[in-house]
Amino acid sequence: DPRLKAISDAITVVPHFPKPGIMFQDITTLVSNHKVFKHTVEIFVDRYRDMDISVVAGVEARGFMFAPSIALGIGAKFIPLRKPGKLPGEVISEAYELEYGKDRLEMHVGAVKPGERALVIDDLVATGGTLSAAIRLLERNGAEVVECACVIGLPELKERRLLNGKPLYVLVEPR
Ligand code: 5GP
Repeated sequence: DPRLKAISDAITVVPHFPKPGIMFQDITTLVSNHKVFKHTVEIFVDRYRDMDISVVAGVEARGFMFAPSIALGIGAKFIPLRKPGKLPGEVISEAYELEYGKDRLEMHVGAVKPGERALVIDDLVATGGTLSAAIRLLERNGAEVVECACVIGLPELKERRLLNGKPLYVLVEPR
């Protein structure tokens, strides 16, 4: 698929951001390229449109750049999974490990109905820790997570167990 090369080429690698030694994968240059952004959303929409998915959950913040467009494209609702203290209603919360330290994701109670089929979207998967917290939030609220999808990731996730058996779909590898 020639679109995948264009997507990979539109990602900018920023060495030593936000810390020395990190090769940051910057997707702002992907979403600011209309053609490539459209291809990216279209690939996900084509994959998920006939999978009876009614919920697309986006992970703050960069998952928010893709998830709503995918939700509209497949006729599903969008729900935000947010960093602590941002959602105004009653929330449930899940902690996950970062390379250094811990963080949490929160979801509104009642954002999904029991049995709803959900897709989780983020820009990039590294260890899978963030996606694992997203899966737990959705499952605690009764949703069935069909798949997790990211623009960037390694085809073989080192810590597959973190996704608790859920399939992972990625478009391109880190540059
Ligand atoms: P994980 O929890 O899988 O180890 O890390 C994935 C999370 O870290 C995602 O939410 C992603 O947005 C963020 N992240 C880590 N490194 C990068 C990077 O180089 N580029 C981008 N765009 N996001 C990153």
